[in-house]
Amino acid sequence: MTAEPTTTPAIEFRDVVKRFGDNVVLDGLGFTVEQGDRVTLIGPSGSGKTTILRLLMTLEEADGGLILVDGDPYTHEYRGDKWVRIPEKRRSQIRRRVGMVFQQFNLFPNMTVLENITEGPIHVLGKSRAEAVRRAEELLDQVGMAEKRDAKPNQLSGGQQQRVAIARALAMDPEILLLDEVTSALDPEIVADVLGVLRQIADTTDITMLLVTHEMRFAREVSNRVLMFDQGRIVEEADPETMFTAPTHERTQAFLKAVL
Ligand code: ADP
Repeated sequence: MTAEPTTTPAIEFRDVVKRFGDNVVLDGLGFTVEQGDRVTLIGPSGSGKTTILRLLMTLEEADGGLILVDGDPYTHEYRGDKWVRIPEKRRSQIRRRVGMVFQQFNLFPNMTVLENITEGPIHVLGKSRAEAVRRAEELLDQVGMAEKRDAKPNQLSGGQQQRVAIARALAMDPEILLLDEVTSALDPEIVADVLGVLRQIADTTDITMLLVTHEMRFAREVSNRVLMFDQGRIVEEADPETMFTAPTHERTQAFLKAVL
């Protein structure tokens, strides 16, 4: 008899609490993202969506609860009879599995496009320069930016910078890619280009994706699950078709009416 295959979720939040002063942003949040899932978080501004991504990048620290990546506790673990903080060395090993693309691109301004992409693989992953360059060229080709390899970020349009930022994130071979409003700083006619690149990544890799977006078209095209988020809690979850055509929760209905 063969054992049932078990899969560990790529991301799990258990009772996560996050406060900024008196402002309780996440109030015992729980959700999971399965391996290879493409999950979109939607919801009103200020509801805590970006905070979730920032916690996963360890750019913020939770005030309570547990965050697991591939089943590994990422913040604290229960040892003996008490909760202890995960040592920084182990946190950084886990963090390497996670890549993030930001709304404002965040490229290194004084480096060329190629250097932006090879920096992490050489200095963090310890790849040889030749190997890092070979992979960077492959990724630049994939995002349609091969001709700009020697340009500096300020010589590029917003859409081009975002495509380089996507290539830079992928160069670190992440298992999980976090995308935070990656099209909201872009002109409308450029949005489709960036969506096309992300769509292609979704179609050709098994990277788990967790995205925050106001672009409902993006959520619809790229994701297989949508979580509606309000005041630090998930109020509804569904596949995109159901979420956008037949939402059941009144908060979702009101939100979608306002944005669609
Ligand atoms: P969303 O992504 O849904 O718009 P955010 O996660 O950015 O929401 O923000 C959730 C709440 O947390 C907001 O009330 C915001 O003002 C607050 N917040 C986020 N980051 C900080 C911070 N660094 N310091 C203080 N308050 C913050």
